[in-house]
Amino acid sequence: MDSPEYAADTTVDPWNLARLKTLIPAIPIGRIPPAIPVILGLLLLAWLMTRIPEPKPDNPWDTDPRRFFSDADRTWIRSLTGDRCEHRSLFGLWRCRRKGEQMDHWYPHSKGGATERRNLDWMCARHNNRKSDRTPTLLDTWILYRARLRYLPARWRGYAWCDGLSRDPMPAAEPIDEGTENDDPYYEEDYDYER
Ligand SMILES: [Zn+2]
Repeated sequence: MDSPEYAADTTVDPWNLARLKTLIPAIPIGRIPPAIPVILGLLLLAWLMTRIPEPKPDNPWDTDPRRFFSDADRTWIRSLTGDRCEHRSLFGLWRCRRKGEQMDHWYPHSKGGATERRNLDWMCARHNNRKSDRTPTLLDTWILYRARLRYLPARWRGYAWCDGLSRDPMPAAEPIDEGTENDDPYYEEDYDYER
């Protein structure tokens, strides 16, 4: 019973924490150090996110032969955005209060972004001008995406992520087969008549 192993078992406070507590003031210092690497890690991640550009869309041409969006596209984006500029700042917390004025290629047309609704955003003149043909970062795109999930009507949520691709996320229904000439019920009749 006097061996060192048994002695250790009976010690309730082997590191004398009780005495340590009397030395350290009430501030829970022990909880702060592990938080520092976590915070630094998050800051580094946030910093990296502001650097990483959105990847260049893999489109079948260098620049989309179609340069301009249509009037129908304008009507569409105005209704989707409540006719309000989609620019955001402060990591997405603040949205520009101005009315939208210009259709913008989210991924710049000059850099290979498609003239498609999935690459269309609605900006006031000032913010469209400021954005110019700068490639958005992944963070910009993600912030717009998160915001759009809140204000786009449910059926248009497929358009929330602007990746600049030419493929439409919600392709129109297959065109109705109009049939060939030979399906015309009067075809044979006319043919006989001609003979
Ligand atoms: Zn704006």
